[in-house]
Amino acid sequence: MNSKINGNCPICGAAGSQLYAVCTDFAISHEQYALVRCPDCGMVYTYQPPGEIEMTSYDKLSLKLELGGDPKGLVHKLYWHTRAIMLRRKAALIERLSYRKGGNLLNYGAKTGFFSSFMEDRDWNVTSVEKYHEERVFSLEMFHHRMIEVSDMNTLKPQTFDVVTMWHVFEHNQNPGALLDTFYNLLRPDGLLVIACPNYSSYDAGYYGPYWAGYDVPRHLWHFTPVTMNSLVGKHGFVLMHHEALPYDSFYISILSEQNKGRHFPFIRGMYRGLVSWYISKNNRGRSSSLVYVFRKK
Ligand SMILES: [Zn+2]
Repeated sequence: MNSKINGNCPICGAAGSQLYAVCTDFAISHEQYALVRCPDCGMVYTYQPPGEIEMTSYDKLSLKLELGGDPKGLVHKLYWHTRAIMLRRKAALIERLSYRKGGNLLNYGAKTGFFSSFMEDRDWNVTSVEKYHEERVFSLEMFHHRMIEVSDMNTLKPQTFDVVTMWHVFEHNQNPGALLDTFYNLLRPDGLLVIACPNYSSYDAGYYGPYWAGYDVPRHLWHFTPVTMNSLVGKHGFVLMHHEALPYDSFYISILSEQNKGRHFPFIRGMYRGLVSWYISKNNRGRSSSLVYVFRKK
């Protein structure tokens, strides 16, 4: 592929983006996609991804993740166990930084609703937004928790939310700038915006290169580092108040990356590599596999 890229950066409009890497959709289609980097704002983005409607055929992973696998299998058990720990950690982070035990929370991209339900049990009033019908039905049947569609968001009252969360969702959104403006309007003046996503300046991303599972093309449209995340969200009226590692992601992403490379014993190799990544990120959050960022309004 020629390293000269046609078209302008979708984030800042600058011309001259350059080829950064070529990645494969290991999870579904096995198609290849270029990642390109804007010389102006520094954003790395997936070049010419499928449109929003076509993306649905690439984007049916979450139900499989939540429900699939052998319930007696080791990976399945570990997944449920670590999710239970992470739900408690996420709740504790939000309650510590918002100085609240309860309030109005908007969970955007709520998937099957485990986090929403967990927060409701802790006395939060949760509004969940999910674009896929199957996930909304699952949430209603499993938790009796009703989710709204993305188009229903314009019925929400401005300045009524204490916290907005996006757990591994922001990097999928077609128009992140407009989404940030929507959240700015919905949040109270002291409200918090919580964004978790993979970090391609992590140790494990460097180790695995184009096999790194955090790229997850074409579903991930945007590929962030702490610098580009802070820059983009900062342009929409927010300021970073805290960021920290999501420790289990380094193991999960490393195991998937080993599978992408087609290596033997991906679980054992991935656990080892995840351990190295986790250890490095303990003293350097910027090298962490995934990060959770907490922003407040300026
Ligand atoms: Zn740009």
